[in-house]
Amino acid sequence: MIFINPRGAPELACDHCGCRWVDRTNGNHCYECGEEISDAAIAEFQKAAAEFAAKPLPPRDDPK
Ligand SMILES: [Zn+2]
Repeated sequence: MIFINPRGAPELACDHCGCRWVDRTNGNHCYECGEEISDAAIAEFQKAAAEFAAKPLPPRDDPK
C-alpha cells in the first residue's frame, strides 16, 4: 500500500494493517503486524517515489 504524506511524497505502508512502520532493514516486515511487505508493493512504492522525484515542486506564492 502506498501512503501519500502531506507533502505529496509517497511512503511505503503495510498492505495488511495500513501502518507505515515498515522495517525495510529486516526483510521488509511490518513492525505492527509482522506481515511481509510484498515485492509488488515495494515496486509500486519505488515507481511512485520516482514519479514524485521527477515532478516539479508545486509553485509557491511568491510575493511580486
Ligand atoms: Zn502491518
